[in-house]
Amino acid sequence: MSWDLQPQIDDWRAQDLWRELRLVESTQGPVVKVDGKEMVNFSSNDYLGLADSEVLKQAMQEGVDFYGAGSGASRLVCGTLRPHRDLEDALAFFKRTEAALTFSSGYATAMGTIPALMGQGDTIILDKLCHASLVDASRLSGATIRVFPHNHLGKLEKLLQTATGRVLIVTESIFSMDGDRCPLVEIVALKERHGAWLMLDEAHAVGVIGPQGRGLAAELGLEGQVELQMGTLSKAIGLSGGYLAASRQVIDWLINRARSFVYSTAPPPAVAHAALVGICEILQGKDGDTRRGRLWKNLALLKSDPLPTSAIVPWIIGDEQKAMDISSQLREAGLLIPAIRYPTVARGSARLRVTCTAGHSEAQIRRLLAELAKVGLGESAAPAEA
Ligand SMILES: *Cc1c(COP(=O)(O)O)cnc(C)c1O
Repeated sequence: MSWDLQPQIDDWRAQDLWRELRLVESTQGPVVKVDGKEMVNFSSNDYLGLADSEVLKQAMQEGVDFYGAGSGASRLVCGTLRPHRDLEDALAFFKRTEAALTFSSGYATAMGTIPALMGQGDTIILDKLCHASLVDASRLSGATIRVFPHNHLGKLEKLLQTATGRVLIVTESIFSMDGDRCPLVEIVALKERHGAWLMLDEAHAVGVIGPQGRGLAAELGLEGQVELQMGTLSKAIGLSGGYLAASRQVIDWLINRARSFVYSTAPPPAVAHAALVGICEILQGKDGDTRRGRLWKNLALLKSDPLPTSAIVPWIIGDEQKAMDISSQLREAGLLIPAIRYPTVARGSARLRVTCTAGHSEAQIRRLLAELAKVGLGESAAPAEA
């Protein structure tokens, strides 16, 4: 094998699968300055518009003043700083579990949690559309991996019937590239019947759905029946980091065995402090309700039939080249909407992934609708049902 990467790069370019980083010369928000041009941003996961909010910026500054800039080392080595402990207590209360553990990212949460609990002889059953972090973590664990077609309960049940060892079902409350929800009530019933555990990734649900934005399990009153509740601080909460909420026993196990926790420096304490403010004061307070109200109002304006079930509204294009062309036409019109392509989604299912936030104005949403119509993507063009 040669070290010349160019032929492969050329091949990816020819297939419209090559990606490049674009420099943003503004803060993250509904309007961003990209490559020198102001654009309305319909691509971020900052669903509540908190990333550049005064309240979180102030909390971050306060955190630096109180606790300094860095964490020093892994928490088992250097001790746990107060904001990390307080944040975990707050998350456990927020998710109605006995305990919670935070990680430096959602990705690191999955990579630490799944291999710590599952190994050779065990079975992990994943939804086909699970996020890369869940897939990578499952592979790393050495357990047998089984995949069921997206949200297919019949196939899931079949796999449960033949699974061996400890059995873990892994799925998401809201799927990141499709915006649809998992049938959680039915999945919980199935896992109870077969004695399996359930890991639910609430990355795109927290802050957006459920009472106080507590997610899908909370909305359906199923928190007590989801053994491993995962989420991130990086989407609606506007910061970065990930968490796993579970029983005290599981959390103590992870403190000992989750390698991405044990062998990684704790995130900056100011981030934990700001996340604590985000969870306690914003999400569970009046500000959270107001922001969620604005978000859902924007979503209803964006798409009415049927109403969106999350803040992610994809328009499936199919062809990679066509998706890229439409995305650049929209960019010309001042709208930032990425074309999501393989390997993030299956080949031939390229899409425009529109995300809406509480920070968008009605005028911005109307402008989006007008521009989508111009490129043939009016509401009648059937937004994705996935
Ligand atoms: C974004 C995302 C993650 C990873 O979270 P980060 O905090 O960004 O590392 C995990 N799962 C899902 C479903 C996600 O969308």
